[in-house]
Amino acid sequence: MTRICIVLTLTKIRKETHHGKKSTWHGVDRESIPWFPVVNEAQCIGCELCFITCGKGVYEMGEVDGRRKAKAASPFACMVGCSTCANICPTHAISFPDPSIVLGVEREHKIFSIVHKEADARREKQRSKALETCECIKRQSFEIAGEVGRLCNIEELKEIVLPFECDIVEFSISIPSIAQHKKGAPGVAKMTLIGKNIEEASALLSDKIVAKELVIVKK
Ligand code: SF4
Ligand code: SF4
Repeated sequence: MTRICIVLTLTKIRKETHHGKKSTWHGVDRESIPWFPVVNEAQCIGCELCFITCGKGVYEMGEVDGRRKAKAASPFACMVGCSTCANICPTHAISFPDPSIVLGVEREHKIFSIVHKEADARREKQRSKALETCECIKRQSFEIAGEVGRLCNIEELKEIVLPFECDIVEFSISIPSIAQHKKGAPGVAKMTLIGKNIEEASALLSDKIVAKELVIVKK
């Protein structure tokens, strides 16, 4: 039992200090906010749902009188305002303070300007990530004329593009009216090829289109 306690304490210190740095909640010292789960040991049946569900690593499982029990070993790692573990505990063994204390902390520390800055930083991060993704995904559009129904063979298209980690999007076909067709008007297909190795896929697709006696009007 002594050994378990030492391991739990070390885990707690490691998680809560984040390598020596004090943990904060939107600028507020986390340990000044009394939001964490309390497990009623007598009600806990050791199902481990809380342990496996909490993404913050708050819980450890231990033994009391030979029975498995949950313990909130790192209480301040709990996400302020979250109460998921209490909601899923089958025996209602987990309790939290009244949520009004969270609202009180928000008001007292006027955290919203910090939250806005954090939201801006997150948007910027998402934008940079999206830009990075866009840079490695290229596009090539095609406009094709002729008996464009010949292009509608999905298996054939798959064979062309998938080996090059490409895909075909925005594929549309317009067919002429009967009167226009009688006068020799062609159908028109538009498609966009997207992917990483677009040059190779584009060359192969162009060959296939020409082999079907279709005309690439625009590329
Ligand atoms: S979910 Fe409830 S019953 Fe299950 S281990 Fe956690 S505290 Fe115990
Ligand atoms: S409330 Fe959420 S973050 Fe806190 S211990 Fe439960 S599951 Fe983990």
